Amino acid sequence: MSDKYCVIGNPIAHSKSPEIHPVFAAETGQDIVYERCLAPVDGFLDTVRQLVADGYRGANVTVPFKLEAAAIATRLSERGRLAGAVNTLVFENGEIVGDNTDGAGLVTDIVRNAGVSLAGKRILLLGAGGAARGVILPFLEQGPAAIVIANRTRATAEALAAQFAAHAAQAGQVSAIGFDEIAGRFDVVVNATSASLAGDLPPVPASSFGPDTLAVDLMYGKEPTPFMEFAALHGAQVRDGLGMLVEQAAEAFTIWRGVRPGTTAVLVALRDKL
Ligand code: NDP
Repeated sequence: MSDKYCVIGNPIAHSKSPEIHPVFAAETGQDIVYERCLAPVDGFLDTVRQLVADGYRGANVTVPFKLEAAAIATRLSERGRLAGAVNTLVFENGEIVGDNTDGAGLVTDIVRNAGVSLAGKRILLLGAGGAARGVILPFLEQGPAAIVIANRTRATAEALAAQFAAHAAQAGQVSAIGFDEIAGRFDVVVNATSASLAGDLPPVPASSFGPDTLAVDLMYGKEPTPFMEFAALHGAQVRDGLGMLVEQAAEAFTIWRGVRPGTTAVLVALRDKL
């Protein structure tokens, strides 16, 4: 019997995870099946209980259940706890173990795939929602000079910066501002707002970008987002969130199976199908 995994969400038809994990399994010789699981909006916990009863070994979690997944986990990784959101569940020894691999996926995509070290760099993080929360600890672990969180609602960015202050190597390494206070050029600018979903450009000034800037939009699609176009127009190297998606999946697969899959072929195949 193959070990069973799935991705839980609502809606779920759009999820690319079922196109990713079987490729990882084939490459690493792991005997798994991976399915989509549509959970009722008010039925996440019941769905997870049923999966456990049916012998599933783990699951990915996507919109809108990442916060609830953190709440129902009987044990949380440090990065899952700090993110307050979980995208990876492991069902083992009667426990529901929650982790968040989104931030690690983004770091791998930036550091390994884009070849850009984050050590000593100035990072501008646009947005303070679920995706932003998940990336701050993995960013801090890379030893950046500064992480500046800019958000439309400044108070949300301030709360996030305060939460991560204890994990900073020095005072002021993580700070919070409103969009109208963004000043100076950054080495890395990450668009973790949901503005791209509506085809909007977050109000980031052109002066944030230069030829040495890497601009990453966490959204992905066939066409560059307005943020990517704007950053490229002002000299930045740009990438979208498809690499992050594949790398977070690789991190989850590694947690489940204890073997790390290659990601290049999957990334190329998904890019071709966008
Ligand atoms: P949330 O809804 O949790 O947060 C949205 C954030 O965007 C908030 O900070 C909000 O500000 C801000 N925002 C919304 N609209 C605008 C706007 N028009 N201008 C400026 N700021 C805006 O979303 P998520 O964090 O879950 O997702 C953010 C993005 O990340 C999405 O594009 C999503 O697709 C992507 N993502 C990609 C992943 C990947 O693997 N590539 C994984 C997870 C997410 P405020 O606080 O003021 O409301």
